[in-house]
Amino acid sequence: MNFLEERIVKDGKVKPNNVLKVDSFLNHQMDISLMEEIGREFHRRFADKKVTKVLTIEASGIGIACFVAKEFGVPMVFAKKSHSINIDSDVYVAEVESFTHKNKNNVIVSKQFLNEGDRVLIIDDFLANGCALQGLMSIVSSAGASVEGIGIVIEKGFQIGGQIIRNLGVQLESLAIIDAMDAETGTITFREQ
Ligand code: 5GP
Repeated sequence: MNFLEERIVKDGKVKPNNVLKVDSFLNHQMDISLMEEIGREFHRRFADKKVTKVLTIEASGIGIACFVAKEFGVPMVFAKKSHSINIDSDVYVAEVESFTHKNKNNVIVSKQFLNEGDRVLIIDDFLANGCALQGLMSIVSSAGASVEGIGIVIEKGFQIGGQIIRNLGVQLESLAIIDAMDAETGTITFREQ
């Protein structure tokens, strides 16, 4: 098991409806030493890409993406959830369905902060059905920028997102892939990588 899988087994809580809670080290309280290690690991995996921006989505991706951006020495940009029905023309927009809240949000990125020619590394905490990632990819494409890769902390491999994204031919690196989890027993099975 790698450092993250060990931590998931120790402190993760399997909830009903295919939800894994990692509030004690990733999603509410954050273990900063672990974040630093995650930042270094993504930097190592995407070292050959000339990344110019790290992009994530609020809220839970932000902390992680900061540590990744620091390793690359580039800015971190996060897509904001917008409740406004009047979207300004100075932003890129995509519709994203939330896995945890089951609602749809427009997410926006100012045109100031993502430009043609930017080489973007997308980072997020979880990958489930892939809606958040597809929204972010569409924003990158609207900007005329390129997706150099995607780094995910925890992929739930029994949901469809990973397959959809890999089929697009993007380099997707997930630090832990969960193939099965059981809310009754709390058991978590990781994919060998
Ligand atoms: P997707 O868009 O891939 O369906 O879901 C990804 C987003 O939903 C992530 O940004 C994450 O915030 C949230 N998410 C999905 N599954 C889980 C989960 O099992 N636990 C937690 N804490 N968040 C999740």
